[in-house]
Amino acid sequence: MATKYDAIVIGTGQAGPSLAVRLAEAGMKVAIIERKRFGGTCVNNGCIPTKTLIASARTAQVARRAGDYGVTVHSPITVDMKKVKARKDAVVRHSSDGLQKWLRDTQNLTVIHGHARFADPHRVRVGDEILEADKIFINVGGRASIPPLPGIDQVSYFDNSTMMDVDFLPEHLVIIGGSYVGLEFAQMYRRFGSEVTVVEMGPRLIKREDEDVSANIKTIFDGEGINIRLSAECIGFEKRGDKVAVQVDCSSGDKIVIGSHVLLAAGRVPNTNDLGVGQAGIKVDKHGYIQVDDQLRTNVPGIYALGDCNGRGAFTHTAYNDYEIVAANLLDNDQRRVSNRITAYALYIDPPLGRAGMTETEVRKSGRKALIGKLPMTQVGRAREKGETDGFMKILVDAETKKILGALLLGIECDEVIHSILDVMYANAPYTVIQRAMHIHPTVSELIPTMLEELKPLE
Ligand SMILES: Cc1cc2nc3c(=O)[nH]c(=O)nc-3n(C[C@H](O)[C@H](O)[C@H](O)COP(=O)(O)OP(=O)(O)OC[C@H]3O[C@@H](n4cnc5c(N)ncnc54)[C@H](O)[C@@H]3O)c2cc1C
Repeated sequence: MATKYDAIVIGTGQAGPSLAVRLAEAGMKVAIIERKRFGGTCVNNGCIPTKTLIASARTAQVARRAGDYGVTVHSPITVDMKKVKARKDAVVRHSSDGLQKWLRDTQNLTVIHGHARFADPHRVRVGDEILEADKIFINVGGRASIPPLPGIDQVSYFDNSTMMDVDFLPEHLVIIGGSYVGLEFAQMYRRFGSEVTVVEMGPRLIKREDEDVSANIKTIFDGEGINIRLSAECIGFEKRGDKVAVQVDCSSGDKIVIGSHVLLAAGRVPNTNDLGVGQAGIKVDKHGYIQVDDQLRTNVPGIYALGDCNGRGAFTHTAYNDYEIVAANLLDNDQRRVSNRITAYALYIDPPLGRAGMTETEVRKSGRKALIGKLPMTQVGRAREKGETDGFMKILVDAETKKILGALLLGIECDEVIHSILDVMYANAPYTVIQRAMHIHPTVSELIPTMLEELKPLE
């Protein structure tokens, strides 16, 4: 016998909990199912723990540079990894426990711990229990992809989840993948005191960004003593006693790197392989991402997919925005759409990268007439005062409409500063609005109008 609900939510990531609570508060009888830890990737092994660890790593770095500021700190700077992990665990626990309590305290909402699998389009099995509903919301997220590289099954390795259990300092951490996740861990562990090598198959770091961004980040990482091996086309692994030999075979340098530990940061895959999507007739693409329309409806009436599993975003804020879109359409008669949102994200290396809208490469490909402004962080007084002048800022605007097409800010505080540009983009206002606004001195933001004064045609 199936237990009947008005709605079932599968997964407690960044969309499911808020949606479940909204639906329950609207008077629906709702069930939410979680197979592991409440809060999903972001809370347990993504954003929150990594940013907490990065705060520890930055503190170590600031202490190392104390002399530059005339402050004496007795060296050498050492990091107590057990305390670093304990601090991270406490921050994570606070969020995960808080979320679980919120769900359990909500009226009309039943929390079920277990693995959910579709039996048919309206029924979901969790262990021996069967749940039935006309509306089912999938928020199952993703996990690290384990590429079938030669020798991978012969060695032990970490991914972003298992890395969260590390409470010691790896002697030499070899990170496979020079993109967002890999770069954050690379700088973090280098600052904790490990030797770090980033192995990237492509010819440059974070290939989705413009080339000047990749090059600038490489310079910053070189300066911190992080080894970077690009164009590593033949990555393979071999056990060497208690070490791992990683074959990199790049166009230059040694063909093998000997590491004490390996972290795989080579992309993500959606958690749809064990969800029974076939039983429900839900369409997925060749990578397993659930196909959705602009309102996040799957091909099966009544079934929606939100967050990383739909391939329409790969961030906490895109997953949360998915919740807002579904709730607005279902409960508020507000026709919000995925296509209304503007690309925005940050990369939390130090200094951080803030991104909004199109890259320069995308603007060039679009063929439209555009203007570009660029400013090195060395020209930003606030950055000089703080002694952190790495990076640069770049903005692209439409030459005819004066609307901002995209911006990239790599520099101190730029994960925050980017929002002033993002909000003007959402307001659909021309860049001149920012130019005419009086900004506060001394800030990084006050230099955005200066950058806009120097716009030149994009050639
Ligand atoms: C190392 C790292 C750092 C990151 N840093 C950032 C950042 O700084 N900012 C940012 O915006 N994003 C960041 N992200 C991305 C962000 O974590 C994800 O985009 C976000 O968590 C996606 O949320 P979600 O709701 O789609 O799914 P998830 O958070 O992955 O949650 C899905 C949940 O569903 C559960 N589940 C799966 N299958 C089933 C099933 N069959 N039955 C029951 N439950 C199931 C899972 O256990 C999980 O709890 C980071 C990711 C990583 C890996």
